[in-house]
Parts: sequence; structure tokens; C-alpha cells
Amino acid sequence: MRATAPLCCPLCGAQKAQAIFRLDQVPVICNQLWPDPAAARTAPAGTVDLQLCRDCSFIWNSAFEPDRMVYAPGYENALHFSPRFQAFAAELAAGLVARYRLAGKHVIEIGCGDGHMLDLLAQNGVASATGFDPSMAGVTSPFTARDTVEIVGEYFRSDQLDRPCDAILCRHVLEHLDDPVALLRDIRRAIGDREVPVYFEVPNAGWMLEAVSMWDVIYEHVGYWSAPALTALFRRTGFEPLSVRTGYGAQFLMIEAVPAAPQEDYLDPGAARICAAAQAFAEAAGAEVQRWRRRLRDCRGKVVIWGAGSKGITFANAMGEAAPGLCAFVDLNSRKHQRIAPGVALPVIAPEQLASLRPELVLISNALYEEEIIAQLRAAGLHPDFAVIAG
Ligand SMILES: [Zn+2]
Repeated sequence: MRATAPLCCPLCGAQKAQAIFRLDQVPVICNQLWPDPAAARTAPAGTVDLQLCRDCSFIWNSAFEPDRMVYAPGYENALHFSPRFQAFAAELAAGLVARYRLAGKHVIEIGCGDGHMLDLLAQNGVASATGFDPSMAGVTSPFTARDTVEIVGEYFRSDQLDRPCDAILCRHVLEHLDDPVALLRDIRRAIGDREVPVYFEVPNAGWMLEAVSMWDVIYEHVGYWSAPALTALFRRTGFEPLSVRTGYGAQFLMIEAVPAAPQEDYLDPGAARICAAAQAFAEAAGAEVQRWRRRLRDCRGKVVIWGAGSKGITFANAMGEAAPGLCAFVDLNSRKHQRIAPGVALPVIAPEQLASLRPELVLISNALYEEEIIAQLRAAGLHPDFAVIAG
């Protein structure tokens, strides 16, 4: 037998890992849709083996292989087709510009996607909004129409901070990094003695644990951040958090911080609470997977999943053969239509196509949209059963 080295926490370095949840054969890139079923079926798959650090409460996938992740054009992660998300993003942009007096200033966003937030910042009066994102190389975006908005289609490097910069935003990036400490140290070094505030946003692992929302567990996410772990990351790397709060129905965790002296051994007192929640999650998640498999095995009619995002695709793959009636994903995003989800190889259709499909059960992958979806289907004369799969 091969001896296994003790696992080292990527945040605090402690060797106090405890396994909490495992998914095998999950798509390496959940949001990458495929042109045909054969390609979708053979899409790269990997293992998620979540570990909890009992010291700092950071949770990470110890089976993650960074070389397998390539964020190339075609990576589709935009949420902003929902009115609710648009409202959240608009309020965030206006709030950041007001709190940090960014009108007439220069803002950088690391991992900007198609530049939706950059455009919102420009609307709120920033002088220049520059984003970095390798998935935008050679891709055009409607959000770069203003000449104050620019997207650089490359991975961010800290030497790109060698320019006027009055704030740094980084949303939904940290959870993809196998060495988040390195990025923060790098940014901190590049900021130097400038008073540059930073805003980071990640999925809220605290919410995921409490809601037992194991469908938020995807290969693309190496790290699962709760407020205590996020606070420790920032304090250890030389930032003073001004606020750590949740938003978007508690599903996002948002930190605003300013440069300060590093507290290299900082552990947050809230870590014990997260460790307890993670242990409860471990027990409940296994039971929940079995409950869904039984329910879908017993469902005779057609089943669709509303939302061809990470959650829905992870759920479908975890159900596998236990869900014979599962026949499509429904999504508002027309860029996803007629494309095929990885692993399960099911098509993504437009809501209008449900009239002819007449599903018996519509699984809603995000409870936030439940009312919007039910109202839309009722208006179309459809009366299926609904269930939320978010946990
Ligand atoms: Zn740790």
C-alpha cells in the first residue's frame, strides 16, 4: 500500500483535514456546453473530494488538478440574464463607486467575464474600468461599447497594477484558485503603499453548508469560502477587512478591505461554528442524494431542470441513471440553446419549447427564481409539479 502524505490546508498550512463530501465523475467544466451529445458524453470528468481544515475552517477539493482547468473562450458563466441578478449587480456597482468615491477614478477587475460589471462601473462615472479575463480573448462583448471600458483577454498578472488604480474588484475568481494565498500576496505587493481598496466576492460556503446545497459543489471550485476563512485569508496577506457580508439571498460572500500590515497567523474565532456546520453538512448531503434518486426513479413523466448552470448540471450528473425521465435543461440564456450539457448529454432548450414537451416535473435549480418561473409557466398554460433542488 502506498503511504499517503497528510493533507496540508492551502490557507493556513495545518494538517487537520477531515473528508466531508465526495462526487465522482463530475464534469471538469460544468458551464462548458457542447455541440453534440457524443462530445458532451465524453467531456472531461474529475473527482471532487472535499476536505475541511479543522483549524481555519477552509474547505477545499484535495483531488483538484489545476492543469485540467483551462478558461478559454466558450466558458459561459454569466448570470446577468436574470432581472434579480441585474438588480444586485447594479446596486453593488453604485454602492462601491459611492463608498470609495470612484467617480473619475480608475478601477481594475480581475476575472471580469464579459464586462457586465465594468459597464455598470462606467455608468456610475468611473474614468476607466479595465478587466482581465482569458475567456474573453478574441471575443466581443456588448459591455465594452463605452470607450472607458476595456477587457484584456489574458490572465491577470500583478505587474498590470503598475498603472493608476483606485480600486480592485475580483468576483467569483478566488474559489477557482488552488493557491489563493499567492494571488492575494501578489496583489498586496503590487499595491505597495497605495491606499487601494479591494472588493472580492465568492459563493458563500456558510450558506451552502447550512442549506445542505451540495449541488454547489463543482470541480471548477477548488475552495469553499466562509466568512471566517475569507477573513483569515485577507488578514494573513496584509488587508484589513472593512466589511464581510452576505448578499444575493445569502448565496454570495462579499468582502471589502484595505491594505494593512499582515497578521500571518490569524485564525478567525468564527471557524469553530463553520467546522460544526461542515460536519452536519457531511451527514445530511449523503442522505439527500439518496432521497432525490428515489424520487426521480419513481417519476413516470418527463422531468426538466430549469437553469443550465453549474447547480443543475451537477445535480443531473449526480442522479445519472436514477433519473430516466430527465430530458432537458431550460434556460433563459439564448446562447445556451440547442447546446448539450456535459456528462449527462441533455439539450438546453428555451422556455417556449416546454409547451410541446409538457413536463410532469420542473426542477428549479435556484430557489431565488421560483416565483418568476412558476408565473411564466402558468401564463403559458402549463401546470407541472415544481421542486427546488437547491437543498
Ligand atoms: Zn486551514
